[in-house]
Amino acid sequence: GQRDFVANVSHELRTPLTSIDGFAQAILDGTAADRDAQMHAAQVIHEESDRLARLVDDLLDLARLDAGQMTFARAPVDVNALVARVADRLSLRAQEKEVRLENEVSGLPMVAGDGDRLAQVFTNLIDNALKHTPAGGIVRLRGEALAGEVQLHVEDNGPGIPAEDLPRIFERFYQVDRARRGGAGRGTGLGLAISREIVQAHGGHLTATSAPGKGSCFTVHLPLDLSTASTVSRRRR
Ligand code: ADP
Repeated sequence: GQRDFVANVSHELRTPLTSIDGFAQAILDGTAADRDAQMHAAQVIHEESDRLARLVDDLLDLARLDAGQMTFARAPVDVNALVARVADRLSLRAQEKEVRLENEVSGLPMVAGDGDRLAQVFTNLIDNALKHTPAGGIVRLRGEALAGEVQLHVEDNGPGIPAEDLPRIFERFYQVDRARRGGAGRGTGLGLAISREIVQAHGGHLTATSAPGKGSCFTVHLPLDLSTASTVSRRRR
């Protein structure tokens, strides 16, 4: 409920603030005495500030979605080009992680919607896939048009998601490995919640399957009938 959400928000904001404060104190009171310790403290402050900024961005998106104030364009979108653009933007990160990012999406018909918001969804999904795939792994993007919809798959061969966690990963703040605290890589736990709402606002849905130990597959389903996209921007809550 709303009260849980506020408690979660407070907790999630407090965690990076506590470590920013702690490391700033260490510089001020001389606990971080030498240059190495000070550089380390500054690095942590930098990373945690970054995380706070991402949290605030995500919370703003959620607030807009909840208030029905996120506006969605309803233009023809070429998902082939869109996925290619997002993949291209993330190709450097894939290289750094030594993960092969293969884009097999092509020949799909147009859908109706908001290209920037859909790009946000694919950025979140591909980013997650890259994050959870070890070096030498593959993230594959595939697409097909069937059953009146376009289905876009983001597939990885990372560790997968335990069956008991799978139904919960779209919940706000839910993270499977909550022990992995702090640091540059740690997410907000809000990405999938936001992505699911964006896809639903397009009259579609976002699903996930996973074989633990083998990988995960996230699928964006978007209605092919351009007229059904007129549900876009109408909240159903
Ligand atoms: P986060 O900011 O933690 O990435 P998300 O809402 O995007 O938040 O994802 C929620 C959780 O779902 C992640 O913390 C992670 O545990 C799990 N998850 C998401 N994508 C994958 C994936 N491709 N492989 C394994 N776990 C994943």
